[in-house]
Amino acid sequence: MARFLGSKCKLCRREGVKLFLKGARCYTQKCSIERRNTPPGESKRRYRAKLSDYGIHLREKQKAKRTYGLLEKQFKNYFKKASKMKGVTGENLLRLLEIRLDNTIYRMGFATSRNAARQLVNHGHVLVDGKKVDIPSFLIAPGQKIEIRSKSRQIPNIHEAMEAHKSLDQFNWLEVHPEEFSGYVKALPTADQLPQDIDHRLIIEFYSK
Ligand code: SF4
Repeated sequence: MARFLGSKCKLCRREGVKLFLKGARCYTQKCSIERRNTPPGESKRRYRAKLSDYGIHLREKQKAKRTYGLLEKQFKNYFKKASKMKGVTGENLLRLLEIRLDNTIYRMGFATSRNAARQLVNHGHVLVDGKKVDIPSFLIAPGQKIEIRSKSRQIPNIHEAMEAHKSLDQFNWLEVHPEEFSGYVKALPTADQLPQDIDHRLIIEFYSK
């Protein structure tokens, strides 16, 4: 699958917020946003002062796309799928992104970033309902059991992620059993359980033009 290979920290600096793309480093003072929160190649004032409505919509879409580590075509496909579903399109969009297998692994605390979670899935370390699933975009349904394969439970990065996750927010739509390296989706995330730092209405505006 095609993926972004450039500097991840530059993506955060472009959006002006932490997108948590680099795992443990994102929680330290080494984070580029902590040290220098200016867009790459431009002064903060010059860049952020001139945003038009279109620019605001575009930036929010880019922020969401980069947060979940997707390319444009993949992100647009999620939008199309969300717009055909019943309910609020923006909420559907975020919900679809949240229940991707790589995101769920990350939210459960078995990886320090979505990128690391994607690697775990790609390398065959993850089982869904007892069967190996190596597709990061696999959408998890409520009740499905996600677990780290028993042979893979010694991987140091997984232990580091689980340790770091203890001090982070837990997600009510997930139930995690760290001692069993497993968890499941209790129910699809409700509107108030979706990421509040992404304004999905701006994304819908962007695609509605
Ligand atoms: Fe973004 Fe993490 Fe880099 Fe900070 S360390 S700029 S949050 S990717």
